[in-house]
Amino acid sequence: MSETTSQQLPTVAFLGLGHMGGPMAVNLVKAGVSVTAFDVVPAAMDAAREQGLTVAETPEDAVRQAQVVITMFPSGQHVKDAYTGAGGGEGLLAAAPAGATFLDCSTINISEAQEAAALAQEKGFTAADAPVSGGVVGATAGTLAFMVGAPDEVFERVRPLLEIMGARVVHCGGNGMGQAAKICNNMVLGVSMVAVSEAFVLAEKLGLEHQALYDVVSNASGQCWALTTNCPVPGPVPTSPANNDYEPGFAGALMAKDLNLAATALEQTGATAPMGRLAAELYNQFVADGHAGKDFSEIITTLREGSREG
Ligand code: NAD
Repeated sequence: MSETTSQQLPTVAFLGLGHMGGPMAVNLVKAGVSVTAFDVVPAAMDAAREQGLTVAETPEDAVRQAQVVITMFPSGQHVKDAYTGAGGGEGLLAAAPAGATFLDCSTINISEAQEAAALAQEKGFTAADAPVSGGVVGATAGTLAFMVGAPDEVFERVRPLLEIMGARVVHCGGNGMGQAAKICNNMVLGVSMVAVSEAFVLAEKLGLEHQALYDVVSNASGQCWALTTNCPVPGPVPTSPANNDYEPGFAGALMAKDLNLAATALEQTGATAPMGRLAAELYNQFVADGHAGKDFSEIITTLREGSREG
């Protein structure tokens, strides 16, 4: 969290108080931002009240005084429905005051982020997409990384809020480019975790010790985050989820979601990415096999089990 004075901070409506949105909204309040919060689930509203957040009766009431409307939802459809009121009610775009900026921090399809921004812009508002990495730990600590898609002046408007909720804020380009950066990064992550896991499974077959493989690859050209921070076997990196029965960490369901968003972008753009597509297939199977709540590094178990006797 960086230093910002509350005088220059816009008033905020925060909608979507789940695992990520709840602690993000709390960090804004702690920094002196005026926040009115809302979630469709009563339990999330109760938890928000207990954390000291001011909650509104309806989503429209939450945004009536807001200069920035932040959403943190599961999918792009949730975002568009909330904006237009397709899920019931007037909708956020009809209730927000003139001059408001719509800042969506959810991870959603690039095309849907651009559609959502266009819906806001058609009503005379400004819009930005700012998906995050860093998980619940980063959301709570205020150390998230934000990848932002917005015109320059909109980026400057939301930047002070993002700097409260995060430790790193990168302006990636126009609307949708925050999502593009997030999805490209997570495609690298999914593919590299599968690659690292495959190397450990092959090493096991060859009689090469985990630690020996780690000591070589972590100092060689195969070095990557999937190996040195989130190592898929217990031992070499004591803090990796593999040492804790693959408790996440980054859940397999979220990796599958992000790889499916990447697959959609591949389809829409025609880009060639056989590894990214295969990683999406592997993680969809991982989820279908009942591992949705386990860390994504547990994919090594699936690969090991799928191996035949040599
Ligand atoms: P979550 O399911 O815990 O929270 C989403 C919240 O949105 C829920 O409380 C839900 O009730 C609420 N909601 C849905 N529609 C609403 C509406 N119309 N109005 C108000 N509230 C509404 O999900 P999460 O883990 O907090 O993730 C949120 C987003 O962040 C997702 O897009 C996810 O992909 C992304 N993300 C999550 C993580 C993580 O580690 N959990 C990490 C990075 C990015």
